[in-house]
Amino acid sequence: MAANFAELDQVERVDLSKRTLPMDDTPELRKAIEEGEIHTLLMTYVHVTGDEEMLDKFAPHIKSPYAYPPESIPAELQQELREKLLHVLVTPGASAGDPSEALMHRMMGVGLAEEVADEFLPLLYDQIGLKPEMPRKERPGRKPADPNFKVLVIGAGMTGLAAGVRLNEAGYDWEIVEKNEEIGGTWWENRYPGVGVDTPSHFYSFSFALNPEWNNYHPQGNDMFAYLKRVTDDFGLRPNIRFNTAVEKLVWDDEAAVWNVTVRKRDGSEEVLRANAVINGHGPVNRYKWPNIPGLESFEGPRLHTATWDTSIDLTGKRVGVIGTGASAAQLIPAVSDTVDQLFVFQRSRHWVMPSPAGEDLVTDGVKFAMRHIPHYLEWYRFRIYWFAADGLYPNVLLDPEWPKDSPSVSAVNEAMRQFAVGHIERTFAERPDLKEKLTPDFPVFSKRIILDRGPYFTTYLKSNVHLEQGGIECITPKGIKMKDGREIELDVLVCATGFDVANMMGNLEIVGRGGKRLRDEWGTEDPRAYFGMLIPGFPNYFHTVGPNSAPNHAAGQNLISERQVNYAIECLDWINAEGKKAIEPSQMAFEAWQDKVDDQMVHMIWSHPRAYSYYNNSKKRNFLSWPWRLIDFWNACSGPRKDDMELS
Ligand SMILES: Cc1cc2nc3c(=O)[nH]c(=O)nc-3n(C[C@H](O)[C@H](O)[C@H](O)COP(=O)(O)OP(=O)(O)OC[C@H]3O[C@@H](n4cnc5c(N)ncnc54)[C@H](O)[C@@H]3O)c2cc1C
Repeated sequence: MAANFAELDQVERVDLSKRTLPMDDTPELRKAIEEGEIHTLLMTYVHVTGDEEMLDKFAPHIKSPYAYPPESIPAELQQELREKLLHVLVTPGASAGDPSEALMHRMMGVGLAEEVADEFLPLLYDQIGLKPEMPRKERPGRKPADPNFKVLVIGAGMTGLAAGVRLNEAGYDWEIVEKNEEIGGTWWENRYPGVGVDTPSHFYSFSFALNPEWNNYHPQGNDMFAYLKRVTDDFGLRPNIRFNTAVEKLVWDDEAAVWNVTVRKRDGSEEVLRANAVINGHGPVNRYKWPNIPGLESFEGPRLHTATWDTSIDLTGKRVGVIGTGASAAQLIPAVSDTVDQLFVFQRSRHWVMPSPAGEDLVTDGVKFAMRHIPHYLEWYRFRIYWFAADGLYPNVLLDPEWPKDSPSVSAVNEAMRQFAVGHIERTFAERPDLKEKLTPDFPVFSKRIILDRGPYFTTYLKSNVHLEQGGIECITPKGIKMKDGREIELDVLVCATGFDVANMMGNLEIVGRGGKRLRDEWGTEDPRAYFGMLIPGFPNYFHTVGPNSAPNHAAGQNLISERQVNYAIECLDWINAEGKKAIEPSQMAFEAWQDKVDDQMVHMIWSHPRAYSYYNNSKKRNFLSWPWRLIDFWNACSGPRKDDMELS
């Protein structure tokens, strides 16, 4: 946990719109400039001053591809920038600057040491918060939303909350129905020790609610929850959220053009709500799964799943078994290894693990001050981290047709990434060839979710009380785990870090569309398909967020996906409103053409590699989850409905 810092919900709010110049020349400001990230300081300085000469001076020293390390920039030049920035920030009469788009475009290129193509600019301006989109209600020429058109949103996680904010701005009547007693979804439910986000904090947040308070460069779960709680309160969403109420069934009434939504309350009672449209934000990983291992129920000690952690169970001095070595396990294992007596980790399959040292993960007080108070610093920092976690990574997931088919990589770029990950293994386990062998995957990096090692993960396996078991589990017994090699490992507590039923995208929901068409008949339990990942013919005004083939798995950031899918849904609603219609759905032809397009592209993607096995693929090896194009393509696709593909009624 972030021991050095106050919990996010105890921190006083800073109004970012009040970041003005001149600032007071204080030790805090000087510390902020001293500790600030050098490229971001450069962007901030040029934004405020328009001084292109400084860009010219820095340009030759900032090198591609990662414009890093900062040591490549001469110390005197860094010092000159810091002094000039301090001067300009505290000079009476200074203004926060208003650079032209041309200058901002140039700044981006210099700061990254690579050309930023024009096509990325609208996404960047919007997502980094430099030019937030105009609230729909204020857009000239837009027909106001019909206040009697009700939108029901399922779930108050990141996606549902984004929907609430944007529906509010657009003037719709809306309500979120949430099964839990609190907002937050993933970040309310997952409470295992060490829980956190792998996407960098200063990007994994809403573009309309930038947060300067992150304690870590990758948020802890509790900070993520506190952030979402703050957004909920700041945007006044709570009165529109119906808590402790689970949606069970949606039935389309064709005559009235509404969805009848059956909900169940905590007391067991049932109610049918009526809504003109439904945005389903019930989460891609909200339905956890137990491992399918004989004897699971027979274990006599406490049995936990990471997704429903029981905080009352004390692991101190216990023999603990962890089944699974995926993302949750990689966070849990280091967090509990010193508390438990013995830790047995049962690995079924390997994962590629990328280093991200914990020591560098804490945001210092100086940097936090810069994020909070120096105009534009937060936005330019967000720009930088977004860029390096975005489409620059896309070549990694493209199969190079010339690359040897039996290789554990798919292209030169992908091989370089593999070498980087192999280096992490080699360095950590130089003295332990047994662990090297156990932890080195034979499939390409990116064909399966990458694990982030925040410093202590891999090294945890070097501890004498931590045992990595690979031989395969025969069964679970009342006392522990019996291995296929005949050994029995006695345990006091069994932890299942076995993930989620991602393929069953509709969970237990019953969704009945036009003419009694059942979505479960279309999708089964693992074969979901949707136009643009969201819409299905026969299910009018139903928007399934984070749906089939809508996850750009080369790049991180559910925040962008959630915001953009919500944008798409509201654009569809605005269109039917403008046309005086009641319902929208894709034509069958458009749906099929879209699916063909996805399937055609998937052939060229890493997830079609013969060694690619992950939860992105269903049991028939069809990838039902990944978006096979770039993030920018996703962004553009979600700008609004392609009218030729749609049927209004
Ligand atoms: C441990 C972990 C780490 C992760 N790390 C990352 C990361 O680094 N980067 C990243 O981009 N993503 C990450 N994710 C994915 C994460 O789930 C998404 O980023 C994001 O939080 C999803 O938001 P959501 O609102 O779509 O879904 P959720 O957060 O799952 O919210 C769904 C909400 O819907 C509610 N709900 C579900 N069913 C019903 C129903 N029938 N009726 C009423 N309410 C219902 C749930 O209670 C929940 O509140 C991680 C997930 C986990 C579990």
